[in-house]
Amino acid sequence: MSAREKIAYLRGLIEGQNMNENPAATKFHEALLGALDSIAAELDDISESQDDIRDYVEDLEDEIMELHEKLDPDIEDTCGCGCEEDVFDDDDEEEYQATTCPGCGKDFFYQPDAYDDDEDLLCPHCGEPFKQ
Ligand SMILES: [Zn+2]
Repeated sequence: MSAREKIAYLRGLIEGQNMNENPAATKFHEALLGALDSIAAELDDISESQDDIRDYVEDLEDEIMELHEKLDPDIEDTCGCGCEEDVFDDDDEEEYQATTCPGCGKDFFYQPDAYDDDEDLLCPHCGEPFKQ
């Protein structure tokens, strides 16, 4: 039963009970039913605007999908398991590279990402700076 149907049912109950000889009770029942009618009307307004918002959001979703497909038909912005992990974000892994110090000839590992292109490497064995 919808809210409106329940209110109509209540109205029928009240009217069927012949309580209308008491003016105070009649006034109370009319106020009660009037308040319920107002609530039902406001609920109708809210669900109408909710429908509008839902239509709008669905349109937006369609437009976003179209834009996505125009940008790259193969694009997938989630990893597929629903975790919303960005599949393009592979910066988590730290890359190490082996190099040999020209000063002492010893090998060591360094992180290329941690250095600028023109920055000298520092040998951890002899402490000599040298170019990558
Ligand atoms: Zn060295």
